[in-house]
Amino acid sequence: PTGNYSQDKEIVRDYFNSNGFDRWRRIYGEGEVSKVQRDIRVGHQQTVDHVLRWLRADGALVGMSICDAGCGVGSLSFPLAAAGAQVYASDISAKMIAEAQSLSPDPENPKFEVNDLEGISGEYDTVICLDVIIHYPFNEAEEMIRHLASLSRSRLIISFAPKNPFYTMLKRIGEFFPGSSKATRAYLHPEKAIKKILADLGFKVKRSEFTATQFYFSRVYEAVK
Ligand code: SAM
Repeated sequence: PTGNYSQDKEIVRDYFNSNGFDRWRRIYGEGEVSKVQRDIRVGHQQTVDHVLRWLRADGALVGMSICDAGCGVGSLSFPLAAAGAQVYASDISAKMIAEAQSLSPDPENPKFEVNDLEGISGEYDTVICLDVIIHYPFNEAEEMIRHLASLSRSRLIISFAPKNPFYTMLKRIGEFFPGSSKATRAYLHPEKAIKKILADLGFKVKRSEFTATQFYFSRVYEAVK
């Protein structure tokens, strides 16, 4: 980490346009993968399923405008569009977006675009950002959440790797993210601090889920105005 957002962002962008693209495309895909990758695939799918369950439970997905910020290959964008939502999906990685577009049955929805989080403008009923801020130090994560909140009319769904003594220890002994060359640096964030950022922006956590498998862990919040 450089303490400089644009430099950190370049490192993340390069990673998700090279090794990170190959690794995560496989994890998010359906083909044969290693045991570790399969474990992460299962964990990530659980996070996606929590979000889909929340949105479906509230009904009215048809016509809802949704921004999927840092959409990867569209693991969440596709089911949302299939359920009738109008989805804008962007990612900092041109490779991720090209892959998502190549998988898309409808060139209009989701509307995929290469764009980093700060480049997103407009207003959406719901803004979602899954497993992205794990790649950024706290101050940068705070800036990202602030920007995402400004795009949202009523709801912000965001996931992050929670910081607590247990995960800090596991991270230190290298239990998570095995093989340092395979992963970017991961940053854990304290739940209290994330809640405070949201509260200061006028958002209250309405629903929350925690997913943990052996090699994947993610806390997801649904925050509403
Ligand atoms: N949200 C997707 C999902 O859950 O399936 C992808 C998660 S993947 C672990 C992280 C994604 O965030 C990558 O596709 C990466 O390119 C993207 N990303 C990282 N930093 C970003 C930024 N500053 N702006 C937009 N996308 C970013």
